Order: sequence, then structure tokens, then C-alpha cells
Amino acid sequence: MNKKFLVVPVVAALLVSGLGGCKKESTGTGLPQIGTTIYKYDDNFMSFVRMAIDKEANGKAQLIMNDSQNDQAKQNEQVQTMISKGVKSLAINLVDPKAAQGIIDMAKEKNLPVIFFNKEPEASALASYDKAYYVGTESKESGVLQGKLVADSWKANPAWDKNGDGKIQYVLLKGEPGHPDAEARTQYVIEEVKNQGIEVEELALDTAMWDSAKATDKMDAWISKFGDKIEYVIANNDGMALGALASLEKAGYFKDNKFMPIVGVDAIPDVLNKIKEGKIVGTVLNDAKNQGKATFELALNAANGKDVLEGTSWKLDDKKAVRVPYVIINKDNVSVGEEAYK
Ligand code: BGC
Ligand code: CA
Repeated sequence: MNKKFLVVPVVAALLVSGLGGCKKESTGTGLPQIGTTIYKYDDNFMSFVRMAIDKEANGKAQLIMNDSQNDQAKQNEQVQTMISKGVKSLAINLVDPKAAQGIIDMAKEKNLPVIFFNKEPEASALASYDKAYYVGTESKESGVLQGKLVADSWKANPAWDKNGDGKIQYVLLKGEPGHPDAEARTQYVIEEVKNQGIEVEELALDTAMWDSAKATDKMDAWISKFGDKIEYVIANNDGMALGALASLEKAGYFKDNKFMPIVGVDAIPDVLNKIKEGKIVGTVLNDAKNQGKATFELALNAANGKDVLEGTSWKLDDKKAVRVPYVIINKDNVSVGEEAYK
């Protein structure tokens, strides 16, 4: 009985390896193979992008998906392995945004197209290879929109100026230093608040590496240092906004009329729920679904030897980048966010 069951997979394996000899274009499924990396699976936002890519790929391509575990050396090995397995295109979420050139050099050798996504490579790297593209956003836009959110909410709530000096005493939780999104959001959120005619005073700014638990630790320390002097919490992403919220709740906020305005970026479902509960002021939609869709569509076209934009509605800018727009989300349009994370 047991033996009989064992024979079948062996025969199947022999058949498959036999077929391997006739230089097939794709795998046994008849679908082209696309090699994908996610910088780390343990990133709230990226898990939604990954789901979107998976969903798009269903029935159209065979994805090889890798968790690069926040280790660029590991990612480079994964890419090398996928290339030797004969993938037809690569969709790469870099660990280190400065590592694009290394990946491009490997791909170029095999004339293999590469679609980078989420972590924008340096323009010079993208320009160095005609088959390299980027799918993401215009980082600056998220900072500007978050700044508008802060300014509008501040103007609508004079009581938030607890010390009555007309300035926003804020703390800022930054994403990964050197990440184009983190750098641009940190700079432009404040520039925009000032452009809206509001004075600011920075009490503290530090990285929590996009991470919720790290943000809770930072916020714990800031609350014990500054207490009620803090008038606004600005987070480069929603994961960190949630971490700050957890810390503030521990410290007695969000009950007995104690409130703290918090804003994030992404519009992940947990934050949308907190916006509905009135515990987070708003966020900026970072459209995981459409970024996943665009990444896959370009990678599939590339794998099939077509123009990357063929049959799609995307456009490339002068850097060969597809930029999915950001949208301000507050309690009035939560459904827009929900739609993008279905
Ligand atoms: C998102 C963050 C995420 C990061 C990962 C950003 O665009 O807003 O939530 O951690 O990408 O690279
Ligand atoms: Ca003030």
C-alpha cells in the first residue's frame, strides 16, 4: 500500500525532470515564472502589497516569493538563485534602497527585466539599465498631504494648543533612515504645516524603523520626558501611529477627556478602525492594492517579452517609474481606504 503511494511521486518527478531537458519557456503549469522579493514579511504595509501581488498572479504567472528578512546579502542570494532557476522577470522590494545597482548588474547579465517596488532605487541605477523600472509613489506627496491633514485638524481644534502659544509642539516618529519615503515624509510634513501658516516646535524626532513595537517604546520615553507638553504625534507610517497610540492609552490618554492627535500614513485596516473610533485623526492612503497590481502587471508583461505597459492603464514618468497617487483619509472618507486594502 505505502509503496504504491511512493511510486507515483517518483514517476512524476522523473517526468518533470525529463521535460526540463527540452528547454521549456515556463514551468509545468505553463505559466511564466516571476521572481519576487519582499524586504521583510514582518512589515505591516508590505504584507498587504504581497497579498495584492499574489492575488493578481493567480492563473497568470508562477510567482517565486522570498522573504529577504531585512538582510540585503540574503536578498542578493535569493535573486541569484531565482535567476539560475530561469525566472523570466524580477519584482524586487529592496532591503537597502542603495542596493539596486547590484541587483541590476546580476539581471543585466541575463538580459532579465527588473521591476523594483516600494523602495525607490537611485535614479542613476534605474537609468543604467533600459529594462529596470520602479513602481511606487511620489514620496514627497505623502508628506505634503499629511501636512495638510495636520494643519486642517489643528485649525479646526483650537483646544489642541494646550499651552496656548499658537505653535504645535510635536513629536515625530520616523521610518527607516535613508528610505526615500521616510526622508521625504519627515521633511515635507513639517514644511507643509508651516506653509499653511502654523508655527511648530519639535520636541523630539527619532526613528522607530516603521515598527509598531519600537514606536511604543519611543513614545513611552517621550511621554515620561515631555508629558502634556506634547500636542501632536506625527508618524511616518500607520504601524508606528498604532504603536504610539498603544503607549498613549497606557499613559491614560483617550479617556476622561484626555486626547492626543495622531496621524500616520498607509491607511491599513487597523488604523481605519481607530479613525472611526476617533483615536487617530487621519492618515494618507498608500495604495497597497494598486501598487501590487502595477508591480505584477509590469513584471508579467516583461516576463512575456512585451512592453511593460501593454494592456495596462499605468504611465511611466521620466525616471521609468509608475507612481500611484496618495489620498488624504479622515473620518469622512474611511471607505476610500477600506477599498484599497480589500
Ligand atoms: C510604508 C511603510 C512601510 C515601508 C516599507 C512605506 O511606503 O508607508 O509602512 O514600512 O514602505 O518599505
Ligand atoms: Ca502649543
